[in-house]
Formats: sequence, structure tokens, C-alpha cells
Amino acid sequence: MIILRVALDVPLPKLFDYRSEDATRADIGYRVLVPFGKRRLVGVIWDIATKSKVADSRLRPVEKILRDVAPLPREWLALVEFCSGYYHGPLGEVVAAALPPRLRAAKPVPIPPRDYVLTPAGGDALAGTPPRQRRSRALLSRLAQGRASESELVAQATGGRNLLRRGIEAGWIAPIEPERPEPRFVHVHELTSEQRQAIGALRVGLEKFRVSLLFGVTGSGKTEIYLQLIADILARRKQVLILVPEIALTPALEAAFSDRFPGACIVTQTSAMAELQRVRGWLLAHSGRADIVLGTRLSVFTPLPRLGLVVVDEEQDASFKQREGVRYSARDLAITRAQIAGAPVVLCSATPSLESFQHATSSKYGLVSLTRRAIDRAELPAIRLIDTRVHPPQEGIVPPLLEALAARLAHGEQSLVFLNRRGYAPALACPACGWVKGCRRCSASMVVHLAGQRLRCHHCGLTEGIPRACPECGNPDLQAFGRGTQRVEITLAEKFPHARILRVDSDAARARSGLEDLLERATRADILVGTQILAKGHHFERLTLAGVLNADSGLFSSDYRASERAFAQLQQVAGRAGRSNLPGEVLIQTRYPDHPLYQSLVRHDYPGFAGSLLAERREAGFPPFVFEAALRAESTDELHAQRFLRSAIDESPRRSASVTVFDPVPMSLARLAGVERAQVLVQSRSRPRLQAFLAEWSDALYRTPSRGVRWHLDVDPIEF
Ligand code: ADP
Ligand code: ZN
Ligand code: ZN
Repeated sequence: MIILRVALDVPLPKLFDYRSEDATRADIGYRVLVPFGKRRLVGVIWDIATKSKVADSRLRPVEKILRDVAPLPREWLALVEFCSGYYHGPLGEVVAAALPPRLRAAKPVPIPPRDYVLTPAGGDALAGTPPRQRRSRALLSRLAQGRASESELVAQATGGRNLLRRGIEAGWIAPIEPERPEPRFVHVHELTSEQRQAIGALRVGLEKFRVSLLFGVTGSGKTEIYLQLIADILARRKQVLILVPEIALTPALEAAFSDRFPGACIVTQTSAMAELQRVRGWLLAHSGRADIVLGTRLSVFTPLPRLGLVVVDEEQDASFKQREGVRYSARDLAITRAQIAGAPVVLCSATPSLESFQHATSSKYGLVSLTRRAIDRAELPAIRLIDTRVHPPQEGIVPPLLEALAARLAHGEQSLVFLNRRGYAPALACPACGWVKGCRRCSASMVVHLAGQRLRCHHCGLTEGIPRACPECGNPDLQAFGRGTQRVEITLAEKFPHARILRVDSDAARARSGLEDLLERATRADILVGTQILAKGHHFERLTLAGVLNADSGLFSSDYRASERAFAQLQQVAGRAGRSNLPGEVLIQTRYPDHPLYQSLVRHDYPGFAGSLLAERREAGFPPFVFEAALRAESTDELHAQRFLRSAIDESPRRSASVTVFDPVPMSLARLAGVERAQVLVQSRSRPRLQAFLAEWSDALYRTPSRGVRWHLDVDPIEF
């Protein structure tokens, strides 16, 4: 008997056995439709065996092996298996996360456009076709003149599609891959000497696995460097995978890539794509036809038979970490991916994650640095700290910033006012008794929004009207506390009535026709007010001033990663100013101008800042010097979550002195959308020991009673 071992999207850490009549080892990697309980599921054939632990009588036959898509390659299976093992998630769940939605069901897949040729048998058939079979003759005669595309053939005669199908069945017509133009590379810049050196360093050993960190200040031309590397790889007829953080950035990047690589087959993969569009691109990659795959974290799983280079842009970005299901880090998987393929991987950033920076400075990764901006006269912006105790803000904005904005307006230059808080005000409160309006489903306060005068929870999306009076003391005079982008926009409009002011945040993007449109309009505004969606990767020619309003909120947080993030974000904002020929200036309003973070920022000294953070982390025993995992429990009842975590600790493997298990604590956002969340943190100085511990623990966890509780493991967590 032939047993198929199938990975199914079921929350159990095992493969499922099915019977088959005629499968062979060549079927490993095919998708397969199987009965599961009363349902039918699509899984992937992981292995073939002759025996099963399941009794013969209980083994069910597979319904159908889905051979319309070529089997997933060994390298793909290896990556998924690694992901499942390292992050301790069921294989089938990783498979489901790794496949485009269309392929998780037994639906027909679009066939990529192909060309057709006449076979020798087809030539004979044409000779023997009597003239009265006009339509057949038309089709075959066209092919006798040479290859033709499907659409051309279908147009040859009425019923062309049927004739084509019959011709293929009869063996007269055969599909072939369409001709692919040789990808070309368009040079637009004379490289700077720094860039040339960087490329020289990255070009060494391009045909084997190696991790390099491309560390360059904003505007130093990192993109230009990896474009050149991509050109090298495409010239070898290999494929390139590029991971980028934001969905919003992919359309702009795709356009830029098409300009620079005419003739190349470029495919994007993001979760926001329509199902068919996504699977079409995926199939082009899988069949080896796509040259470049550009996408967000999920694209790390795109099968690429000729993979020759992996690039991770803005490698420090938190969006590379998956926050649901199997919580993988696409940046880290990209490295494993490259290793499996024997290809180089380049991580790019102006503010690398401390993990990568540590590896690069300890020679585990290659380090390639760029210290200057690429454009001739573009200098790094001057960063000034404005002490709010010396310059008290007027409606949230310090006078020196207002003056600087006025000066830019007078020169016809553009400014950016950054604050990382959307809405009108972050809280509605009662000045009489101190009551603050909280979300009834989350442990967070509700945000005042101007649109429709509503309160909105930024965690769960709940909206409510603004109450008439304080529910505690009856005071009718409730006040909006603090400032969000909407409020700052209004203030600026009052101060600068003639300026074109545009707010750029996710609310504005939703209200208009999306972010792309908004960013296009942004090039024409005098003053932009925005959140981090403005800070990332956009290039505004006339932008010479960036003002930062609530920078201090990142300084004192219980999350040890907060300052690393704050620095990256401020540097990104600063990086928007003065990217072209006009000099840029950055004004940060703060109560703590002496804080080391700001002092490093002013000197553009990320290495210095990172060095001191790393020293602190080494001292305090935090990553990257220890390795962490979290077991999280979620329940509508806090007690259930706590009880589960307590028994989980009781069940944990004991003998490991090298692994520390902490007590259960509520998450920093303890309640989210009506669900109570708590976690147990586990640490070890040894990654292999932590992994061995987790493997054993996770087996035990599946046996721990978990009624009313959902749990998961998060390896290398970034949220607490
Ligand atoms: P980064 O990714 O490091 O922030 P980019 O690659 O986006 O920098 O480059 C910043 C700007 O400099 C872009 O407008 C780019 O076109 C330009 N640029 C890059 N390299 C050169 C060069 N060698 N000469 C002139 N301009 C360049
Ligand atoms: Zn009150
Ligand atoms: Zn909420």
C-alpha cells in the first residue's frame, strides 16, 4: 500500500496519512485534495511511505493529487520545514501561510500565457486536411508559418479555442515557453567612489551563501547599489528576491524596477493583492520565468528555482515579523532561504537592527558601509534640539519651529511636521475628576477623531460617539487631551492661512483614493503633517525642513527595544530633509535635549549609539546576547489565561539550568478586543538549548488542558 504523508492546515503538529493507488516519490511536493472529517482540505504531499501508524481500516484515500501546478521544490519544502521547526508552529500552518490563498483551495489556477508550435504530426495533419475544413486549416496554416501566441490563435477562426484544444489533444500542436527578452539594465548614475567600493565588496563570492549588511546613511544610494547587484545576477540568468517592509512602497518600487530593468519579468507579492493576481505572479516565479520578485514578508516563501540573490531592504523594520499564526521573521528566514539556495543575501539599512549590527561588527556578516549622500551637494541635514523648557510650545509647536516653517514658506520650500499619532487627540478626559475615556474592549484610551466627531479605539477599531458629560461626576465640559495629526493640521492652518497643508496618515489615505494618490499630491504641498507612513523611503525634492513633535514618547519605555526603534524612526524622518541640492534641517522639540539618543542623532552617529545600546544589553542580559521566546495565552477570562500559563510552567522540561522561565505577566496591552492576554517569557544564552527546550515544551503544551484558552509560542518576540 502507498501512504501519502500530507501537511494540512490543522492546529496539530503532525503529518496526516492517506492511502493512494498510484503515487510515487515524484509526487512529493504536489498539492493534494483529501477528506478531513466532514471537510475536504488541500494540503501538500510531504512524504511517501509504505506503512502507517494509523490502522488500515481507518486510512482514507486521497481524493485527488492536484497536478495542475508543478510540485513545490525541495528547497521550498526545506524552508517551510525549518520555519515550522524553529518557530514551533505546525507544518501545515506554515504551508498555509506560505502558499497564495488561491492554492489553498482546489480551484482552477490561471495558466500563464504560452506560445504554440506545429508538431511534425501537425504538419502531416495540415497536408491531409481537406479545404472545406476551413477553420482547422486556418489555424494549422498559421502555425506552419511559425510560433504564435494563444490569443493570436484563438482569433484565427470562430471556435478557435476549441480547435486549439483539440489540436493539442491530437498531438498536432504543442505549447512552448514564450520567448523571453534578455533583461537589460539602464544605468542612470555615475557611481560615487564609495558606491563603487561597496559594490566591489558585495560582488565578491556572488555565487555562494554569504550575509552582508549594507549599512549606509539615508540617501547614500543603497538602492542604486543593490540595483547594480541585481543586474549582475540577472545577467547570469538567475532570479532575485527583494523583501521590502511596506505594502505602500511596492507599487512605486515596482515602477522604478521596470524602468531600470526593461524586459525583465517583475512580479510583486503582497497580502493586499487580489487572489488571481497574486497566484499569477507566484506561478511565474515558481516556473522560473519571473526574474525579480518584489514583496512584503510573505514573499520570502515564493518558490524560485533559479534564486541567485536575496535583498532585504530596511532590514530593521518590525513589519518583517509576522504577528499572527506562525510568528516568523521574514528577515531571518530570508537568510535561511539564501543558505538553502547557496545564494548571497544583502541586508540594507541606515539604522540596522542591533542583531544584524552585532553580527556585522563581529565579522559574522560582511559589513559594507556608506557614510555620505550620493547626490553631489546633498549633505546630511543639520539636526537641532529645541528645549521645550526654554521655548514653551504654542498649541504644541515650539516658536523656533514656527519660524523655520515660515522661512520655508517664504522660500517656496517644503516642510514636514512629524508626529506619530493620528486622530485629533489621543484622549478624552474630564478635567474635574480625572476620568479618561477608555475602550471597553481594550486596555487603552479611545482617540478623538474629527471626522463625524467620533471616538475610535486604535487597537480594535471600536467607534463611539462623544459622551455629553463625564459618567463619573457629570461634568459636561470634557476635554480632548494631547495632540494628534488632525489637531496639528488645524493649528498650522490657523498659523499659516495661505499655505497648502496636507495631512498624510492612514486615515487620510483611506479617506482619499489610497496612499499612492496621497503621496502624489504630497509633492505639491507646502507643509506635510504626517505619521511614519511619510517617513519611509519617499523622496521629496523640495523638502528642506523636518520638525518632530512628540519624539520624547520613545525615550522612556518599559520595552528595551523602544530606543532602538525611536532612533531608527527619527533618523528616517531626518532623512527626508535635504535629499537633493537644497540643504536640510531637522528640528526636534524635546524636554530632554541631553539624552544620549538625541546626542548621537545630532552627530549622525548610529554606530556610536548602537555600540552603547549593545553594551547595555550585554550587561542586562537582553538580545542579541540572550535568546528569547514567549508563550502567550489568550482568553476572555484572565484567570483562565493565568491558570493555563501556570500549568504550562509546571509541564516545562525541568533539567535545563541554562534556560530561565519567568512568571506569567499580563502583556503590556493586557486586553485587546475583549481578550485578556498574558505571557511567560523564556530566556537562554544558548540558542540550541532554548530550541531543545521549546521543542520538548511545545509537545507537552499540546497535552496541557487549555479550555477556553488560545495559546501560541513566539520565538524571538518583539512585542511584550
Ligand atoms: P538610500 O536607499 O541609501 O536612502 P537611494 O538609493 O534612494 O538612497 O538614493 C538617494 C538618491 O540619490 C536617489 O534620488 C538616487 O537616485 C540618488 N543617487 C543614488 N546614487 C547616485 C549617484 N551615484 N549619483 C547621483 N545620484 C545618485
Ligand atoms: Zn468627571
Ligand atoms: Zn479597543
